[in-house]
Amino acid sequence: MSDPTVPVSGPRPRQILMLIGAVASGKGTQAEALSTSLGIPHLASGDLFRAALREGTPVGERAKTYMDRGELVPDDITIDMFMEELGKPQASRGAILDGFPRNVAQAEALDQTLAARGEKINAAIYIDVPSEELVSRVAGRSVCPVDGTVYHDIFDPPAVAGICDRDGTPLIKRDDDKPEVVRERLARQVPPMLDVVKHYDDAGVLHRVNGRKPIDEVTSEIREALA
Ligand code: AMP
Repeated sequence: MSDPTVPVSGPRPRQILMLIGAVASGKGTQAEALSTSLGIPHLASGDLFRAALREGTPVGERAKTYMDRGELVPDDITIDMFMEELGKPQASRGAILDGFPRNVAQAEALDQTLAARGEKINAAIYIDVPSEELVSRVAGRSVCPVDGTVYHDIFDPPAVAGICDRDGTPLIKRDDDKPEVVRERLARQVPPMLDVVKHYDDAGVLHRVNGRKPIDEVTSEIREALA
C-alpha cells in the first residue's frame, strides 16, 4: 500500500546549494570538492557563460555583448541559463550554484523562479575571508604566459622560483592580480555579496564557514554544516 505521507507526484526533492565567496576565497575549490562528494554538478556562472559563448548557443549569443564589455549579463538571461542547467538529468539530485546570485535582485529573482516550481535554496554557504587576506592571496599568484598554468608563492609554488614547471617559461604577474587592482575589485564585489549573505541568513538557510582555515578543514566545516 502506498504511504499517504509520501507525495506521489511533483518535483523530486533535491538539494540546491549555493556557495558564496569573494575572489580567492577558495569557493571554486570547495565547490569542486562538494560536487565530487555529493555527486551533484557544480554550476559556475562564468564557466557556463563561457561554454555557451564557445558553443554559440542562444544564451551565449544573448550574453556575448555584456560579457565583452565585462558587465553583468541581465538577470533574465542568467536565470534562464541556470534553470536550463537545473533541468538537466545530471541535476536531478541537486546542484551547487557558484557565482550566482551576485546581488539581492538576482537572489530574489532566483527564489521566485524556484518557488514557482516548488523548490528553494536548501543551503547557502558563505566562505568568509577578510579582504586583506584575499588581497595577499591574489598578490602571491603568478602565471605562465605560454600555457596559462597558475602558481602561488606560498600555496602552490613552482619547483624553481619564477619558472613554469611544465615548459620552463619565466612566470609573470597579471596586472589584475596587483594589490591595488584587487582592492578595487573587492570594493565593488563585496558589498552586494554581503547583501546576498544577509538575504539567505534572513531566509534561515545560511551557513558561515571560516575560509582562513586550510582547504581540507574548510571542506570539513562545510560538510558538517550540511549534515
Ligand atoms: P566570472 O568568470 O565569474 O568573472 O564571470 C565572467 C562573466 O560572466 C562576467 O563578467 C559576467 O559578464 C558574466 N557573469 C558571471 N556571473 C554572473 C551573474 N551572476 N550575473 C550576471 N552575469 C554574470
